[in-house]
Amino acid sequence: MDDTQPNRLVDSDSKPGDHLDHALRPQSLGGMIGQDSIRENLEILISAAQHREEALDHVLFYGPPGLGKTTLAHILANEMGVQIKITSGPAVERAGDLAAILTNLNEGDILFIDEIHRLGRAVEEVLYPAMEDYSLDIIIGKGPSARSVRLNLPKFTIVGATTRLALVTAPLRARFGAVYRLDYYTVDAVEKIIRLAAEQLEVPSEPAGIKEIASRSRGTPRVALRLLRRVRDFAQVRGEGVITTSISQQALELLKIDKEGLDSMDRRVLQAIVVKYQGGPVGLKTIAASIREDPDTIMDVVEPYLLQLGLMQRTSQGRVATQQAYLHLGLDPPPDAVQPRLIN
Ligand code: ADP
Repeated sequence: MDDTQPNRLVDSDSKPGDHLDHALRPQSLGGMIGQDSIRENLEILISAAQHREEALDHVLFYGPPGLGKTTLAHILANEMGVQIKITSGPAVERAGDLAAILTNLNEGDILFIDEIHRLGRAVEEVLYPAMEDYSLDIIIGKGPSARSVRLNLPKFTIVGATTRLALVTAPLRARFGAVYRLDYYTVDAVEKIIRLAAEQLEVPSEPAGIKEIASRSRGTPRVALRLLRRVRDFAQVRGEGVITTSISQQALELLKIDKEGLDSMDRRVLQAIVVKYQGGPVGLKTIAASIREDPDTIMDVVEPYLLQLGLMQRTSQGRVATQQAYLHLGLDPPPDAVQPRLIN
């Protein structure tokens, strides 16, 4: 198989076929596995809003793709018993587009804005008074006769999601009453998610076979569900249809996903730092150019996981491979290689 996979399997961005996962999406906070602290905080936020009979405070979720930001937005709407409208930063091109969306909301409704860091400046400026005072200033007419009219909006809730908190402007961030970071899931939580999905998909499985998939899912439900589907295919074609340890191992090996959940792109990034740039430090754009990959994908998907595993470190001079990275690639680390600093 070619080592450059145009369609990465462990990429946590949505792909065709993922729509099947929507049926597997948890519908309530109680039915959601993992992210315990966020769930607890949201429970309080919801109860308080319901108690006061008010719209929910604006909420911002951030973290790598595939961890459940969209899922949580849907859960919030279900729990509050309100409608949810969905859009994304790049989809709202003009201020007028946002005004049209906002004026169509009902009291209490949730507007989910994915990739909120990609909203244009002019659109953001419309959002500020809308979020703060539920009002919209629109300009009627042109030239000297133009005048501004203030419209009152229903009390709604913005749920924003971003993979790059640093790119959300300070004034926008300040307008969110609650900001939550989604972390990678533990292997146990991912295992539960896969087990439930396998039951719903009626795929026979052995616990150890599920565990094998979970341990290579990079703590990301979207990746876990995608791997489950591929392993199920493999089990049906090459096995007896049952997900056993051996079937999972063979299927994941064929997909070139290693024991830590790294795929060929992750390994190429590590290899570039270790071999081409002698362990770093090296800038992310240089790495991306040297392996001809999109720097955004590396930043959003590859890097957070390599940092989490302690294979890479970010310094002011650039990215550095740790001792662990050399070992992972089967190489001898140089004596001065940095020790991994594990993120909890
Ligand atoms: P994000 O918006 O962060 O990219 P999504 O909410 O779209 O992630 O989640 C990706 C997929 O993973 C969805 O299909 C959803 O069904 C599944 N998923 C996410 N979190 C969970 C969870 N806690 N339990 C079960 N499935 C989950």
